Amino acid sequence: ETTPAPNFIRNQVREEIEGGQVTKIVTRFPPEPNGFLHIGHAKSICLNFGLAEQMGGDCHLRFDDTNPAKEEQAYIDAIKEDVSWLGFEWAGAVRFASDYFDQLYAWARHLIHEGKAYVDDLSPDEIREYRGTLTEPGTPSPYRERNAEENLDLLARMRDGEFGESEKVLRAKIDMASPNINLRDPILYRIRHATHHQTGDKWKIYPSYDFTHGQSDAIEGVTHSICTLEFEDHRPLYEWFLDNLPVPCKPRQIEFARLNLNYTLTSKRKLKLLVDNGIVDGWDDPRMPTVAGMRRRGYTPASIRKFCDMIGVTRADGGLVDIAMLTHAIRSDLEDSAPRSMCVLKPLKVVLTNVPEGHEEVYDVLGHPARDDMPERRVPFTRELYIDHDDFMEEPPKKFFRLAPGKEVRLRNSYVIRCDDVIKDESGEITALHCSVDFDTLGKNPEGRKVKGVIHWVSAVHGVPLEVRLYDNLFLEEQPDKDKDADFLEHLNPESLSVCQAIGEPSLAYATPESRFQFERVGYFCADRHASTPEHLVFNRTVGLKDTWAK
Ligand code: ATP
Ligand code: MG
Ligand code: MG
Repeated sequence: ETTPAPNFIRNQVREEIEGGQVTKIVTRFPPEPNGFLHIGHAKSICLNFGLAEQMGGDCHLRFDDTNPAKEEQAYIDAIKEDVSWLGFEWAGAVRFASDYFDQLYAWARHLIHEGKAYVDDLSPDEIREYRGTLTEPGTPSPYRERNAEENLDLLARMRDGEFGESEKVLRAKIDMASPNINLRDPILYRIRHATHHQTGDKWKIYPSYDFTHGQSDAIEGVTHSICTLEFEDHRPLYEWFLDNLPVPCKPRQIEFARLNLNYTLTSKRKLKLLVDNGIVDGWDDPRMPTVAGMRRRGYTPASIRKFCDMIGVTRADGGLVDIAMLTHAIRSDLEDSAPRSMCVLKPLKVVLTNVPEGHEEVYDVLGHPARDDMPERRVPFTRELYIDHDDFMEEPPKKFFRLAPGKEVRLRNSYVIRCDDVIKDESGEITALHCSVDFDTLGKNPEGRKVKGVIHWVSAVHGVPLEVRLYDNLFLEEQPDKDKDADFLEHLNPESLSVCQAIGEPSLAYATPESRFQFERVGYFCADRHASTPEHLVFNRTVGLKDTWAK
């Protein structure tokens, strides 16, 4: 239906394979386990795992775990679950950058031997100052000319915890005047007196991202190391390490534009703030743009993969993607796959005065209008029903084709009824409608008049109570974090969640967690994977019915 958008990396890899420069590609997805994955990560996952899938290669899952202070086992578990749920399989075991700490340490010693690394005693502030600016060259540290022997000794003592956290670092000796600031003697190791989730208390020093990433790629035989554009300026450094160390192979770094989505934050740090401040109900709150949140909201893996196909992969920082494209992807998936049912979000009682007490008929209704493989539902009809409050108006405007005093409407799959009386309590609130049935309208048009409106309804005797959670965007601003200094929390949507005590048709009583339905005329809903039980059914609105995505 929708053609995949251009993907320059896939085209490039295809050419390399056809030209014989590469026989088997190896990619990797390298999350830091410091939060849950979000929709931006999904783009990277679909790209890396998708390439391996399409080109007959391998994709590794490697945790980039060089910052123990911010990382947790719980995030590792969640990330693995999300990648699997999206439908991807990593080649071999899960890998960790920390698996390579011994090798990286040996390579740091190698650089020292070669006169290409040194231990620096400058403080973090001094290092920043000495580094210079875009227009001013840096100043060499007074510790830059330490000899190898002294450097090796200091590095070992750093590793063993002899020094405090900001007392020393290990730096590469490259070029303090380089126009690329990343090459002005970048930091290779920092002292951190932290316990690491994988290596425990073995290390008191931890390698930097730059000193870890390319070498980990090389150790694993990665051919294409795909990352977002902010690492473009790091590429010369990535290559410097590979050129100056005895690595087993030379992976290539390729950058692409990150995903930015309107009304949505795609930064783990900012999402963590929402979680830590209790603004949302955890990382997998259905309003969160995390993979786990989208899953709970009712997104399917196929819809997320389709969205990632639709946005394509380019090097041009493409501005904001419209969230309507994401909702289009899930809506068109559920349109085909979700069974239909009737559910009244704001119940208004209807008494059918010409239907006898205790009368009951049952309709066998299609599970899905276009799918005869789906089981039929049994929909009971009784004297008392519920319709949605919004489908009745006491003083309707001209084009209102639903129910109003003296007017007729069709009950979906059933009869035409007419509203004869509006019942109110002392305060004037409408409490019920008295209506009468035209029994000559089941499956056929009424005699001599046209009834345009069709509304959904549920038997008051057989309907099941449901808690329905209606979700909306978390933010009212298209770019909630556009202003660097402003607080994105100011742009929160106060109505991002509202809860209805709804009544659904009896077939919903058997809804298992994560089962998805179209509530006819209302939207797509998913039984909450944590909160929904047979005794207390909870449904999340995934998305409404109206598609606003314009190609
Ligand atoms: P965040 O800023 O949200 O923490 P990150 O890049 O620091 O993101 P990582 O765990 O290091 O998080 O990311 C793993 C991979 O996912 C990286 O290769 C990164 O480039 C990619 N990635 C992260 N955010 C996006 C995004 N918005 N669009 C595309 N790829 C992304
Ligand atoms: Mg990162
Ligand atoms: Mg980050």
